[in-house]
Amino acid sequence: MRKIALLGSTGSIGKQTLDVVRNHPDRFSVVAITAHGSDELLLEQIEEFRPALAVLVDEEAAERLKAKYHGETQILAGEEALLTAVTLPEADVVVTAVVGFAGLRPTIAAIRAKKDIALANKETLVAAGEIVMREAKEAGVAILPVDSEHSALFQCLQGEPAEGISRLLLTASGGPFRGQTREQLENVTVEDCLKHPTWAMGQKITIDSASLANKGLEVIEAKWLYGVDYDQIEVVVHPQSIVHSMIEYADGSVKAQLGLPDMRLPIQYALTYPERVANTFPKMNFYQLKDLSFHEPDMETFAALRYAYDAGKIGGTMPCVFNAANEEAVYAFLKKKLRFLEIYELIDMTMKAHEVVMDPTLDDLFEADAWARRFVQDKIKEK
Ligand code: NAD
Ligand code: MG
Repeated sequence: MRKIALLGSTGSIGKQTLDVVRNHPDRFSVVAITAHGSDELLLEQIEEFRPALAVLVDEEAAERLKAKYHGETQILAGEEALLTAVTLPEADVVVTAVVGFAGLRPTIAAIRAKKDIALANKETLVAAGEIVMREAKEAGVAILPVDSEHSALFQCLQGEPAEGISRLLLTASGGPFRGQTREQLENVTVEDCLKHPTWAMGQKITIDSASLANKGLEVIEAKWLYGVDYDQIEVVVHPQSIVHSMIEYADGSVKAQLGLPDMRLPIQYALTYPERVANTFPKMNFYQLKDLSFHEPDMETFAALRYAYDAGKIGGTMPCVFNAANEEAVYAFLKKKLRFLEIYELIDMTMKAHEVVMDPTLDDLFEADAWARRFVQDKIKEK
C-alpha cells in the first residue's frame, strides 16, 4: 500500500489523483488531503477516502467544515497546517497538486521529511529548482514528474544513460489562439482563453496555456528535472496533444511517448513507477488518429515563452520573478482588471526592473517573489 498525502485535492489534478486511487484501492490509500477553500467538496472527499487529516487553508471554510463533520478525520485550518499534512509520519509520497508559488514551502517540508514527491506544482521548480533538486538529492527522495510532458520525458529516459541526451523536445498544444497574430490577441477575453482545445484544467494553467507561459514554465521545469542546458530544450507545437514529448539522443534517434490527453496516466505512472499497472481508463485507437502535426512556436507573438527562456538563462532569482509576475498578472486578468497582452507587458516590465540575486537562498526567493507581486500590483493600480 502506498500512502498518499495529496495537496490540492479539490483541483483538477487533485480530483484526477483521487480517480487513480479509486481505480486501485488495493495499491493506494490517502492519508491527508488539503485544499484552499472548497469545504463542500473536501467533505465529500473525506467521507469517501477517510484520510487521517484534512486541511483547509481558509479559516472560515474550515469552520464551516467542522460544523458539518463529526467523524474521525482530523480537520486543521491555515497555511501552517499544510506542513503537518506533508510531514505525516505515515505518508510515503506527497502529490503536489496545489497551484502556484504557494506550493514551495510545503514541497520543501515534504522533502526534508523524506517523502517522495509526485510533482504537479511546476511553479515550485521554476522558482526554486536548484534548491528543490539539491534538497531532494540530499534527502534521498525522488521527484516524480506529473506534468504530462515531463512524465513523457521521464518515460523516454528509462533505460537510457542521461549523457546520451542531445535534445529534449517539449510538445505544446499551442492553446486556443494557435496561429493568431498579436492584433488578434488584443481583445481576447477570459472566456476565450478558457476554451482549451485538448485539456480540461484549473483556471490559472488554462490561461498560461493560452499565453504559452505554461510552456515557458515547463521549459524551466525540464531544465531542473533533467539537468540539461536551455539550448538543449526545444518547444514543438503539436495541436493534437498525443505525443506528450520526445528525446533526441546523440545518435539522432528520437524516442517519443504517446497517449490520450488524460492526466490520470502521468499521475498513475508517478505513483506506480517503475511498475506499469492496468487500469480502466480509455485507450488509444490509432485508426481514429487522422493526423499528427508539428510546428515551430511563435515566440514573437506568444512572448511569455521567450521571457521564460530569458529568465531561465539569466538564472538566480529571475525565474522566480518571471513566475511571480505571471501569477499576479494572470489573477488580475481572471478578475478582468487587465487585457490579455498586458500579461506579457507586465512580465517584461517586472523582469527589466528586477535586480537579480545569484545563488539565491530560500529567503532570497521569498523576497523576490513578494517584490515581483508588489511591483505588478503597483503597475496595475497605475493603469
Ligand atoms: P486547480 O486550480 O484546479 O487546483 C488547485 C488546488 O490547490 C485546489 O485544490 C485548491 O484548493 C488548492 N489551492 C489553491 N491555492 C492554494 C493555496 N494558496 N494554498 C493551498 N492550496 C491551494 O489547479 P490544477 O489545474 O489542478 O493545477 C495544479 C498544479 O498542477 C499547477 O501547478 C499546474 O500547473 C499543474 N498542472 C496541472 C495540469 C492540469 O491538467 N490541470 C497539468 C499539468 C500540471
Ligand atoms: Mg504540461
